[in-house]
Amino acid sequence: MNEAQIATAKKLLASPKKIVIVGHKNPDGDAVGSTSALSLFLKSQGHDTQVIVPNDFPDFLKWMPASDDILMYNQHTEQANQLIADADIICTLDFNSFTRVGAMEAPLTNAKADFIMIDHHQSPDDYAVLTYSDTTMGSTCEMVYHFIDALGEANHISEAMATNMYTGIMTDTGSFRFASTTAKTHIVIAHLKNTGIKHHLIHEQVYDSSSPERLKLLGVALNNMQIFPEYKTAFISLSQKELDENKFQKGDTEGFVNYALSVKGIIFAAIFIEDRKNNIVKISLRSKGDFNVNLVSRAHFHGGGHNNAAGGKSDASLAETIRYFISILPTFKDQLAAHV
Ligand code: 5GP
Ligand code: MN
Repeated sequence: MNEAQIATAKKLLASPKKIVIVGHKNPDGDAVGSTSALSLFLKSQGHDTQVIVPNDFPDFLKWMPASDDILMYNQHTEQANQLIADADIICTLDFNSFTRVGAMEAPLTNAKADFIMIDHHQSPDDYAVLTYSDTTMGSTCEMVYHFIDALGEANHISEAMATNMYTGIMTDTGSFRFASTTAKTHIVIAHLKNTGIKHHLIHEQVYDSSSPERLKLLGVALNNMQIFPEYKTAFISLSQKELDENKFQKGDTEGFVNYALSVKGIIFAAIFIEDRKNNIVKISLRSKGDFNVNLVSRAHFHGGGHNNAAGGKSDASLAETIRYFISILPTFKDQLAAHV
């Protein structure tokens, strides 16, 4: 944050405020971690806070400190609308456009509060009095640390706040392996570790908590993988029938797309997951190096994200979506070939 932004933050938070903290739809580790960490911090500073997310998040994040206190908009709509209307300040974390919060778009658009945005995605919308946007950051959780540090309060980070921030940094950096992981990230992690967090238990709770059904579903997904060596591309698909047969639970397919990306020589990976209830196919795209899947998602799948990790959806059937995906591969042939 620059000096002007720090001054704005200090001014906004100078006296006790009613603060609503919002995460994006289908919250991930970074969304739950950043909103919960900031909420715990602002509470410790005397503010009245409430985290609201559009819908539920996976069980493998339910152990996170203060995650019990998160209000789901789709389950408590009236209460959430009142909190949003009454808020002095609304912090939006890990997203930068109201199109990422589903049904919360209208109440946020109509809110009278001052907005603070903390986010690492590209092309932020212009709705906040304080836009702390940094696309070089691997996670919003790392930015929450810098936000607290900029306020001069890094020494007041508790183990619970640190556990939340560690979780989001870990999940959004692929356990500190993506190119977005910097020396600064590791310095932040060292500070968080000094609060007493048990990082080995965080890894276990997030990554070693699969149900047997989830691993069977992974088996089905891997069996469905198709590889196109000439385009350095691999993709996985899962039909609604396959999800049902393996007792699909929210979050079960998290990380599956990375198996397609782990095939030697593959730099572009996708997963297509049929969602009959919403009549869509949910799409996750991943890449290595310079191949920009944010642009692919924006151009073809009504979505967006980061250069190497993006998501979107298709209104066509699963088979048609896959046919379409295969049909656009030749348009990327030169870009895919350029990768070394
Ligand atoms: P995932 O594939 O894990 O759902 O998401 C990967 C990245 O893409 C995340 O940073 C997420 O914020 C972004 N993303 C996922 N789905 C969408 C979408 O429908 N629209 C946009 N704009 N971004 C998405
Ligand atoms: Mn994030």
